[in-house]
Amino acid sequence: MSSSTIPLNGHDYDATGGFTSILECDECGLRHGIGHLAPGSSALCQRCGSTLLRIPVDSLDRSLALVVGGLILIVIANTMPFMSLKIQGRLQEADLITGAIALLRQGMWPLAAVVAATTVVAPLLKLGATFYVLAGLRLPHPPAHIPLVFRWLEILRPWAMIEVYLLGVFVAYVKLVDLATIEIGVAFYALAALMLVMVAIDIVLGPEVVWAAIERRGLVTVPTPAPEEPLLLCEACSLVAPMVGHGSPCPRCGAHRHFRKPDSIMRAWALMITAIVLYIPANAYPVMTVISFGSGSPDTILSGVKELALAGMWPLALLVFFASITVPVLKIVGLAFLLITTQRHSHWRLRDRTVLYRIVESVGRWSMIDVFMISILVGLVRLGAIATIEPGIGAIAFAAVVITTMIAATCFDPRLMWDAAGEQP
Ligand SMILES: [Zn+2]
Ligand SMILES: [Zn+2]
Repeated sequence: MSSSTIPLNGHDYDATGGFTSILECDECGLRHGIGHLAPGSSALCQRCGSTLLRIPVDSLDRSLALVVGGLILIVIANTMPFMSLKIQGRLQEADLITGAIALLRQGMWPLAAVVAATTVVAPLLKLGATFYVLAGLRLPHPPAHIPLVFRWLEILRPWAMIEVYLLGVFVAYVKLVDLATIEIGVAFYALAALMLVMVAIDIVLGPEVVWAAIERRGLVTVPTPAPEEPLLLCEACSLVAPMVGHGSPCPRCGAHRHFRKPDSIMRAWALMITAIVLYIPANAYPVMTVISFGSGSPDTILSGVKELALAGMWPLALLVFFASITVPVLKIVGLAFLLITTQRHSHWRLRDRTVLYRIVESVGRWSMIDVFMISILVGLVRLGAIATIEPGIGAIAFAAVVITTMIAATCFDPRLMWDAAGEQP
């Protein structure tokens, strides 16, 4: 369907909570005219299959209840004991933040910052900001900053990594359980419950339902486009609205809009090359060193996997191998493939390449398992001469690889693949 055949009927919400609008796929750029979408349904792009819009039932009420539960759990997770380790009569306790603090004491501040940001700060900000928006919308005079806060929530979304952290805890636990007595604290259970709550919030919270409420409360006014008026998609809030000059701000969320992400290919390549260069020290240098009775044994990412395999822990060895070695390589190779085929104006399997982009974009965060595992081991195994685990420089390089590839995937604009192949937007 091309844009000219779609009736420009604006952006309307009907009394039943249903939805009528013009939507644009942010992965292939195809514009759709959506008739009526009832609560409980969703719309998919007819060309690439990505989700255009979801309208969950009772989205606002259910999300608010979950967010309140999440806030209680995050307070428990950050104030109660997380884990304790007992070895030869010595006890070491750790809280959620202990790993980051131990990394900071060892002079590894970039790693400490990444761990604290993804496990404590981002989840707290995400829950706090969601509460601010949902509770604020219920007030007689909702705060004027709600649209801005809600826009920033979308940017924050991939950086809260509780589920990845919990997997890191699991790997650390298995590594330690034969050597010491490990006790799981209240905070661990709270964090596990919080992970489930955060997944539930992502399912129940329909961004478009929140934007509809923001519009209803008069916090923003979205202009109705005139027939044949040129329209532009806002990547931050998905609104398709009239274009006002180059880089015109979105009338709904205020984000700068572009026809396509600016300098997408160049930025993605620059970040990819950085990631490839960093990948060498990430694998060559030790990510941690276990010092026991004066003698140290350094571990690289690969030797850590080998150790797990030699100890007979095959499923775990495979998991760590997949997350730490396969995923970063697949991400770099996959993104390079997408960039090269785009630059060569390839028509080959456009839909499959769009799916590949979706996978590359969503899977990258799971590589943080090793980084989190190291932070837990460093925080927990601090028993002086008996056993101490020190972080290695390789861990910083590895975390940098994960972060640069995540940003590279965000910089790449998959619509360019369709543009380059000459497909109609
Ligand atoms: Zn599409
Ligand atoms: Zn917007």
